[in-house]
Amino acid sequence: MILYPLFPGGCDRCLTFSYDDGQIFDKRLVKIFNDHGMKATFNLNTRVDFNEPFVPQEEYRELYLENGHEIACHTACHPFMERMPLEAMLEDIQENRKVLEAITGAPVKGMAYPFGTYSQEEIRLLRAAGIVYSRTVAATNGFHLPEDWMEWHPTCHHHEENLFELAESFLKNRWPEGTVFYVWGHSFNFERENNWDIIERFSDQMACKPNIWYATNMEIYQYISAYRALQFTQDCSSVYNPSALCVLIRTAAGDFEIAPGKLVRLHS
Ligand SMILES: [Zn+2]
Repeated sequence: MILYPLFPGGCDRCLTFSYDDGQIFDKRLVKIFNDHGMKATFNLNTRVDFNEPFVPQEEYRELYLENGHEIACHTACHPFMERMPLEAMLEDIQENRKVLEAITGAPVKGMAYPFGTYSQEEIRLLRAAGIVYSRTVAATNGFHLPEDWMEWHPTCHHHEENLFELAESFLKNRWPEGTVFYVWGHSFNFERENNWDIIERFSDQMACKPNIWYATNMEIYQYISAYRALQFTQDCSSVYNPSALCVLIRTAAGDFEIAPGKLVRLHS
């Protein structure tokens, strides 16, 4: 029996963004996402001393959260984490989480690796420090959900030459349910390279599609975790949802909504 996840709203595919470092050009980027009804995750450092124009921390809440976007970790100091001793790694990520959580007033458990580099030892430490997913910079040019959330490989950086080909393929082709288009980058790329038109055109192309769920990274993590936690009978004739999220699934017998805490019989 083939059985796949549908996203909220019955969407069969999903679009998400991940932008790093929190420079002031995020303001223009947030406006573009807002104007197109899209959601993004912004990965923020909390103690960098580079001479760059960063969004002041007192503006994080209004800029990111109040517009429905996610704030995630990017370490306090933007080091090559995997080169540091475990003690230093732990200090850095805990400081980053605590500062961001003081701003959001909520758990901040998502992350993107600074410089995109990491080690398996770092992953083990981050898991112990409460991080539940972390984005790499390894473009897949594909639309798969991650098997391991701590190595969440994006579809591509926004400056890839094939961005618009991928978008066309994503929109036009029949994909298995549970397909995700994941774009990452830095807003300063657009400013330095004077190519804001890339994200404007891409957003125009992808906006307002009834079968696309526009979600932050954490929303996808939480939803797919709830899907993966569903408990099926061996013959898949019934399913129990132990999570607090409503989960939608597609089977040969039709689409089903599995409400939190409910046991549902799957039949046509
Ligand atoms: Zn960075």
